[in-house]
Amino acid sequence: MKFKISIPMDENGLTGRECPVKECLGYFKIKFGTGLKGDNVPCVCPYCGHRGPHDTFWTQEQLEYAKSIAMRKAKDWVVRELKKHEFNIPARGAFGIGISMQVKPGSPHPIRYYREKKLETEVTCLGCTLQYAIYGVFGYCPDCGVHNSFQILRKNLELAAKELQLADTVEGDLKAHLVGDALENAVSAFDGFGREASAAHRQLSSQPQKAAALSFQNLANADGHVRALFGVSLSDGVTADEWRLLVRCFQKRHLLAHKMGVIDEKYVASTHDPTARVGRKVVIDSVEVSSLLAAVGKLGEYLSRRLTGLAQSAVKSSTGATGPDTVQS
Ligand SMILES: [Zn+2]
Ligand SMILES: [Zn+2]
Repeated sequence: MKFKISIPMDENGLTGRECPVKECLGYFKIKFGTGLKGDNVPCVCPYCGHRGPHDTFWTQEQLEYAKSIAMRKAKDWVVRELKKHEFNIPARGAFGIGISMQVKPGSPHPIRYYREKKLETEVTCLGCTLQYAIYGVFGYCPDCGVHNSFQILRKNLELAAKELQLADTVEGDLKAHLVGDALENAVSAFDGFGREASAAHRQLSSQPQKAAALSFQNLANADGHVRALFGVSLSDGVTADEWRLLVRCFQKRHLLAHKMGVIDEKYVASTHDPTARVGRKVVIDSVEVSSLLAAVGKLGEYLSRRLTGLAQSAVKSSTGATGPDTVQS
């Protein structure tokens, strides 16, 4: 006895998935029909990078639902079969005994309905167009396995650019606040991107544990760490002028976040900013932040490309191993 059970989707057409790895069991959703085409495209867990056939990614609720449907169908079938053999032999004579068998179906087997959960971030993969939803923000694309860290960086830089546009429409303190905020957001976005990209590729580094916990708030330090761990020099990804701008703006963010924007000795020493005076407020203008957004995007793209390159050569030299150490960023 064989039958097909269709698994219900959420209101936006996404289907729930659950990672089969015991330590992960991560829940996410994908929209079948978007993303890679083909019959046997494997599924990648966005959280741990585990790769396997789609029929190993059922959620517990989907399995319970399918089991309950199967039980109902089986019960209905048994009742139908038995009904075919119903009989009724009435009693004959004064002391005769009649025999009959009548099948009463009883209540149907209960169906275990479920509802897919709400998730926090919806992403359309730029690489393969798959629509998927995850908890948190960062993750691997469940179809092509590309890590979304650079995509999220671009999204955040677009938001910072909109903030700058908004700043152009106002004057005074609010303008200064919006421009400073755009700068802080750009630096935080790069820090978040760098941390995730580096953690996602930690297996390719000389010290995976260290690579999983890198900070990118201080660019000069981050450059040294990335060079030591991955053999990639961040400053090679941009021009010397762009690098100076990046280092200066990252230090400006430090002043804004921790010193109320007041210049200290450390800022002067690390940026060689000729306009800076210790004890004065740091100057941030929208033209500088606009250049910063472009340079952050360029640096992010460079790091992403270099890590992808490392991942691809690792795949080539391995014997077809899969998992987070072979995915792209
Ligand atoms: Zn997982
Ligand atoms: Zn993808």
